Amino acid sequence: MAFWGDYHTHTTYSRHGKKLHAKGTVLQNALKAAEIGLKELAITDHGYGHAYGVSDETAFAALKEDCREAERITGVRIYAGLENNLDPRSGKRKEIPPFLNIDDGVLSELEIVQGGYHAFIGTPYMINNMMFWTRNVIFGVPTRKLIERNTAAYKRMIDEYPIDFIGHLNRGIVADAVEVAKYAHERGVYIELNGRHKTLKRDELRAMAAAGVEFICNSDAHRPESVGDMTLGESLIKESGIPYESVANWERLPNFRSRNFKSARAARSSGVSGVDD
Ligand SMILES: [Zn+2]
Ligand SMILES: [Zn+2]
Repeated sequence: MAFWGDYHTHTTYSRHGKKLHAKGTVLQNALKAAEIGLKELAITDHGYGHAYGVSDETAFAALKEDCREAERITGVRIYAGLENNLDPRSGKRKEIPPFLNIDDGVLSELEIVQGGYHAFIGTPYMINNMMFWTRNVIFGVPTRKLIERNTAAYKRMIDEYPIDFIGHLNRGIVADAVEVAKYAHERGVYIELNGRHKTLKRDELRAMAAAGVEFICNSDAHRPESVGDMTLGESLIKESGIPYESVANWERLPNFRSRNFKSARAARSSGVSGVDD
């Protein structure tokens, strides 16, 4: 009995100039994955605009090349991705896209798509995001209006991008997690059980499990030794009564939505029905 893949890991591409945010290389993460018997691995370094993110398209192209090489060496299937940043302002303002700094060109290069909220976004978003974070977390219970806005932002992210899973839902932000998870589930999006951050309450996880939500366990490793470490996720599974059949990478490989998203979108615009994206 085992997990077959880890779809959220960081490498030295998560950095601010020379200052590293994560320790290993793509190959080191892949070697660890091979050593512990994983069939699949994703590299999802922080997206553009994160204070410790992949700097630009050129750096992402290099990351992708490293993935191909590590795949050849280790035999582990490796997805090149980014941890895309959710802009909560998009929950209220239609002109603001849900993802910061990610256009269609970048999106089409991603082999796996995850999205989540991060406070530490570089200028010009840093101050804005820090203000949201402060309002959401530091000053007690957020208002109903704020929760509604954040929930709407998560939903727009699901609607407008080929998201495969939501990373650490409700970390640094407060949305109606159960409502977001149900909405995600109806559209084939997994909810992450993150290996470093416990962001969901037990009763929320129980309600999600009761609604049939599907989860994915990831390490969010910032060093090669932590690749495949699902200790926190497993404890959440046990204490919340989540059935292992609802965990997409437990004894099986996930069916990622992004693989079908573009063809589904094309089919929809040409009037072909019955395609589930
Ligand atoms: Zn993150
Ligand atoms: Zn991460």
